[in-house]
Amino acid sequence: MTAEEVCNVCGLPKDLCICETLSKETVKIKIYVEKKRFGKFVTVIEGIDDKLTDVKKLLKKFKKKLACGGTYKDKRIELQGNHLSKVRKLLIEEGFNENSIEVG
Ligand SMILES: [Zn+2]
Repeated sequence: MTAEEVCNVCGLPKDLCICETLSKETVKIKIYVEKKRFGKFVTVIEGIDDKLTDVKKLLKKFKKKLACGGTYKDKRIELQGNHLSKVRKLLIEEGFNENSIEVG
């Protein structure tokens, strides 16, 4: 077994670990749209714990589903364009608790 297959938080093998599931139910996420220069918009997702959630994988999936560009830096996922309601729906599809997602 490689180190990657063991959870950093509880030390259990990834298939036994429920940290990510638990975290998705309790983590407080904030999504909002930010206006950038030249009148461009980005949809920002804040609050996802990158120790518990594979943010890179999530970003890749969201970029594909929304057909847009995006980055992850300073603990924020930024997706190009205004995708507020779609992002909320995608997060819920990923198992995040809809009551913990603050929009706006
Ligand atoms: Zn764990």
